[in-house]
Amino acid sequence: MKIPLAHIHVRAAERPEGYVEDVLSKGRVDGDFLEIDDVAYAGLVEKYQGGVLFPEPTLRDVLVNASTALARFIKAGCPVLSQEDIHRRSAVCTGKHEARPCSEWSTDGLYAHCALCGCSKLKMWLATEKCPLGKWPC
Ligand code: SF4
Repeated sequence: MKIPLAHIHVRAAERPEGYVEDVLSKGRVDGDFLEIDDVAYAGLVEKYQGGVLFPEPTLRDVLVNASTALARFIKAGCPVLSQEDIHRRSAVCTGKHEARPCSEWSTDGLYAHCALCGCSKLKMWLATEKCPLGKWPC
């Protein structure tokens, strides 16, 4: 299986020191991904969580994130980006305009979304939002 390196670094914030080095030592880095076999992956799941190692946001997480983003947007006076800036953000996430899609962009499930925050393309319109990996600014 292939795990985006960005996922590993984001999860490190919730894991003990040495987590990234431990996970990387169990596989082989290939570009933006860690290739890891099923046995090694299962060992990491057992060691760090006893469950899913790299879960996507739950429905609750998505609703909390969306509510927080909406509150931030309203408090700031509802600032919306220009069409040019929205297209620029969209290109980074979805890979349109001949760019590669972000490894976190997912078209699985009910709607296309960022697998890190669970947000849809709507987030790209809001000037108060930013990419959790800093790939596009606020
Ligand atoms: S918001 Fe950031 S991390 Fe999420 S898909 Fe877009 S570029 Fe990737």
